[in-house]
Amino acid sequence: MECVFCKIVAGELPAERVYETDKILAFLDNRPVNYGHVLIIPKSHHENLIDAPNDLLCEIIMAAKKLAPAILKATGLNDYNLVMNSGKVAGQIIFHTHFHIIPRFEGDGYGQFRIGEYKEGEKEKMAAKIKKYL
Ligand code: ZN
Repeated sequence: MECVFCKIVAGELPAERVYETDKILAFLDNRPVNYGHVLIIPKSHHENLIDAPNDLLCEIIMAAKKLAPAILKATGLNDYNLVMNSGKVAGQIIFHTHFHIIPRFEGDGYGQFRIGEYKEGEKEKMAAKIKKYL
């Protein structure tokens, strides 16, 4: 078993656990963007959003709703990002489904979305393409 997060679940690697149920675990990211940066994972191994069972994803989102205000109170901050990096190009490093809750403060240097725009008619085409695959 090579997965770092599976090893954390199994207690074979240390982690600062902040919340868990029988299905999910939340712990402090060892390399935080900011203090209070928490990862929420299913205890079973799945690679990303798409292959994780819905009941686990629901539990993760419910945990995020519970954790976010606690993180904000603990850090004294008001804002956060709830993020999933899916795939290598998107910045996923550990290929075990996980969401980040990253508390934010003004000028913390964490990247924002680059704001782009569609060329004439391209927005409608893209929406139609996506809908075709739903
Ligand atoms: Zn794993």
